[in-house]
Amino acid sequence: MDSFSFYENDILKNTIRSMVVKGRVVNSFLIYGEKGLGKKTAADYIAASLLCEEENGVPCGKCKSCKMILHKTHPDVIYASPSGKIGNYKIDTLREIVENASVMPNEGKFKIYIIADMDNTLVPAQNALLKLIEEPPDHCVIILTAQSRSSLLPTIISRVVSLSVNEVNKASCEKALLQYGYNTEDIRKSIETLGGNIGKCKSYLDGEDIVDAVTITKNITDAIISSDEYLMLKEFSELTGAKTMTLQVLRLLCEVVRDAMSVSADCDEKILISTYKNGAVKLAEHISKTKARKIYLVITKYIERINSNGNLTLALNAICSEIKEIL
Ligand SMILES: [Zn+2]
Repeated sequence: MDSFSFYENDILKNTIRSMVVKGRVVNSFLIYGEKGLGKKTAADYIAASLLCEEENGVPCGKCKSCKMILHKTHPDVIYASPSGKIGNYKIDTLREIVENASVMPNEGKFKIYIIADMDNTLVPAQNALLKLIEEPPDHCVIILTAQSRSSLLPTIISRVVSLSVNEVNKASCEKALLQYGYNTEDIRKSIETLGGNIGKCKSYLDGEDIVDAVTITKNITDAIISSDEYLMLKEFSELTGAKTMTLQVLRLLCEVVRDAMSVSADCDEKILISTYKNGAVKLAEHISKTKARKIYLVITKYIERINSNGNLTLALNAICSEIKEIL
């Protein structure tokens, strides 16, 4: 379904189609997967599948309903976005949704709430939403998105149908990126570096420093794995004077360390979200979960400090020596 630019991900598409065809649509979904994979596109795809006038479980992209969803003007598809300080949903935002949900849809069969980026939402706010997920009105469909399933309360997870979005193959990624008008050579280079994550490739092609940040993150991870203090210092010093880039690297590094923690955790489901998954696995082999957690805390502490205008050079030196201390 090209008009929704949602490529591959057949398991998700077939699940939705089968629900619509059988007339057994569930009331709540969670779409999860790393940044850039198209979780919000998937949410629109699901909304359109449920509301398309063709009613065959595949959005036609041409009917009035599909067109309104493509233009984000469908009165029964409501988008929420987090407005809290750490990218979280405030409790009031979610309460409002719960209250509003009992109102009947305007034109479609369903009233669909797309509540994207739930990752940083705190427990009380999630609990406010839980009521709606436990007892949704028949006409109401809630689509949550998050990078990781573990960001949500187990009570929510147990009541939603979880669907993952995944990287697409090189051909689909190239096709998707060509539509934005980038040149083929640049596109290929972005896919080589970042894989089939359309969103991340797009950020790179838009000139955001993601590739440099990814490279530096990889080098720092390798330096931590080999406990090479000199190399670590050298990589961190590359960042001197570049605040935005530093924050980007530290966030990417956080993801790698968090992945390493989840590799060492005793759980069946191990979803890795970082851009350097091999590094995370190696890191988990080299350091204990406790050490990984300490490193994670050091990095998040300095992200906060740098964000509130702490001295960058001092912060970089301090991170380096605190990580060395932990190792
Ligand atoms: Zn349609």
